Amino acid sequence: MDRNHLHDMVSVRQIMKSLRSLVAQDISTQDRLDRIVTLLAQRLRMDVCSCYITRPGGILELYATCGLDAKAVHETFLRIGEGLIGEIALQRRPLAVEDAWQHTSFVYKPETKEKAFKSLAGVPIIRSNRVLGVLAVQTKQKQSFSAELIELLETVGMVLAEMLGEQQLKTPTAKAVSTGGRQRIEGTGLIDGFALGKSVIHKRTESAVQVLAKDTVTETQKLRQALNRVEREVNKMLTRSRISGDQADIFETYLMFIKDKGWIAKMVKAIESGLTADAAVQKVRDEISARMALMTDPYIRERIHDFNDLASRLMRHLRRQTKSGDVIRLPKNTILVAQNLGPAELLDYDRTKIKGIILEEGSQTMHMVIVARSLNIPLICGIKNVCRIIAEGDSIALDATRGYVYLNPSDETLDELSNRAQHQKKLHARYAQMKELPAVTKDGISVSLNINAGLSQDLMVAEGTFFDGIGLYRTELPFMLADDLPDVKNQTTTYHKAILQARGKPIVFRTLDIGSDKVLPYFQRHVEENPAMGWRSIRMTLDRRALLRNQLRAFIRAAADRELRIMFPMIANVEEFLEAKKTLMMEVEREKRRGGKLPVSIKVGTMIEVPSLIFQLERLLREVDFISIGTNDLAQFLYATDRGNPLIWNRYDPLSPPLLKALKYICDACQQAGVPCSVCGEMAGRSLEAVALVGLGFRSLSMNPAALGAVKAAIRTMDQAQLEAYLTKQLQTSSHSLRETLKTYAQDHGILI
Ligand code: PEP
Ligand code: MG
Repeated sequence: MDRNHLHDMVSVRQIMKSLRSLVAQDISTQDRLDRIVTLLAQRLRMDVCSCYITRPGGILELYATCGLDAKAVHETFLRIGEGLIGEIALQRRPLAVEDAWQHTSFVYKPETKEKAFKSLAGVPIIRSNRVLGVLAVQTKQKQSFSAELIELLETVGMVLAEMLGEQQLKTPTAKAVSTGGRQRIEGTGLIDGFALGKSVIHKRTESAVQVLAKDTVTETQKLRQALNRVEREVNKMLTRSRISGDQADIFETYLMFIKDKGWIAKMVKAIESGLTADAAVQKVRDEISARMALMTDPYIRERIHDFNDLASRLMRHLRRQTKSGDVIRLPKNTILVAQNLGPAELLDYDRTKIKGIILEEGSQTMHMVIVARSLNIPLICGIKNVCRIIAEGDSIALDATRGYVYLNPSDETLDELSNRAQHQKKLHARYAQMKELPAVTKDGISVSLNINAGLSQDLMVAEGTFFDGIGLYRTELPFMLADDLPDVKNQTTTYHKAILQARGKPIVFRTLDIGSDKVLPYFQRHVEENPAMGWRSIRMTLDRRALLRNQLRAFIRAAADRELRIMFPMIANVEEFLEAKKTLMMEVEREKRRGGKLPVSIKVGTMIEVPSLIFQLERLLREVDFISIGTNDLAQFLYATDRGNPLIWNRYDPLSPPLLKALKYICDACQQAGVPCSVCGEMAGRSLEAVALVGLGFRSLSMNPAALGAVKAAIRTMDQAQLEAYLTKQLQTSSHSLRETLKTYAQDHGILI
């Protein structure tokens, strides 16, 4: 379309006049936008004119359209950076393309029925430096767009920005967008995949029917019998289950709980106080759950589900509602919906019928998730009130890769999911091909991939994928589960077992990182205003030196005749590290005097989690054998942002120049000093972040085992030197986040993220 054509076609002034009159009318924002897009499509003789609005979480929602399928309004969503519309929002610049389908950023949204349209032009709607949305036109015929047309769209965009800036748009956000019984609910996908089926709502055991007991002895007997039956049941479940070999270890914690003397004693005591066995189990369950729920550490909190599962099982047996070994029948193609679920509860069901799982609560390291992963069942969690939103028998499509649950999905959605499922299958086939291959970038840089672990089952998740070692072994959990401080013998057994499971791969034990939110019930607690910055971790173990010495002794004994690697958490100054190391050496001497076998070598390192260490690197690097950066805490302290506070935890992006610069500074200093340096915070396990870390210069990452495949694929498809050069420039910007920029870079350079 040339300049004259536009002039012939329409007078810009006329359009602006109509627009002013529309803005002045007392109608809803939705009506106004509907009329504006219609006006523009007609006057500009465009086949389509659409307006997308930015929603919380960086989502663009199709809000009004003239030309696309009306059913797609409030049903079509694009992330900022996704598709041409997302690209316009990301770049904050107009975009005009003659052949939209050929453009690298193009994404087809079937529900819009936009197949017929060839060319697209769009402009961002910006107000006070915020992108409020995108205004776009499309044509069936392939054509170019004139500068005047873009200018006109920009002017209209400014009017829209003023109009929208004052509005609180009432349509529900993308978290739950409903159109005539259809709904898309957004959660967090924990196990990738797609599924189709009907919902079955999982029901938990109700409260105790009878609370007060007449006969304490009978109730205690009942409890013991029920415990025996549960133990038999869990054992049976293991033999019946396809989960076999090492993976069966997942239930070790279960069997450990069943036999846990402290737990049993508490229940017996509750019975002795006059309760029925049923009520006693419930009381102790509630107490333990409440205690664990207070902890903000997700790793510990997830164990609540195991406790709850076991307690419910016990209660069911006490009420004789279950026969050992019963399988709960399910209709075929079941999507199991639950507030939460334990691993044994999952295995109670006929899992051959379960196609997908939706949970209100849940996270990567939950045991149930580990079991579901081994059964290859797609899983989404983090949907509040899910058991109320979804009713029994609802038709559901699950896109766990994106974290979407579609209630009563449309045919278009089903088509799209089936296409994406195919794509996903190819991606996984690619990961599988790389299984035995090392993580080497395209330009030949090797990256050591390690896992974070804290229970034996963590090592199992990693099975089948190549990894170099255990970069972080968290030792808190056995301490938290015990009723009393585990003694040296107990600890030695635990650590020795971990070493055996590592099968010769290096394993880095971290000394106790207790305090803050991780509370030991048997340890006197001091009330602190800021526990995350309080008496915790190495500060506590240096003050309670026996605790540290016992743990170090256990490490030394567990690693007899092998290599031992130890690191200290929350070190804030070099003196603390030296003091901790001195304690270790004293324990080594003690073991020598005792005639015990010693490790063949001992490497001692520190985590960098407290920013003050960054300014002591010169001295620190002369003292340590290795460094591991805990970005979870480092980011928390660098940005002064409580990592457990949902109001602010994602306010600052780790992919931002300040944190990345700090990481690069540490990485460079370590390289110069010849000290190995790794990153073991959560960011190392996210593909985009991992790519950025390798771009910064890191050659070793430690992550949640489930992330290994995707991170390796990302690394094998990147060029380190190219990204390093690009990142160096980006680090000079004052951008709040480099996430979108890096995503675009990855897409443009074929990096699998
Ligand atoms: C960290 O802080 O990044 C870390 C790995 O330690 P944790 O998450 O256990 O505090
Ligand atoms: Mg930490």
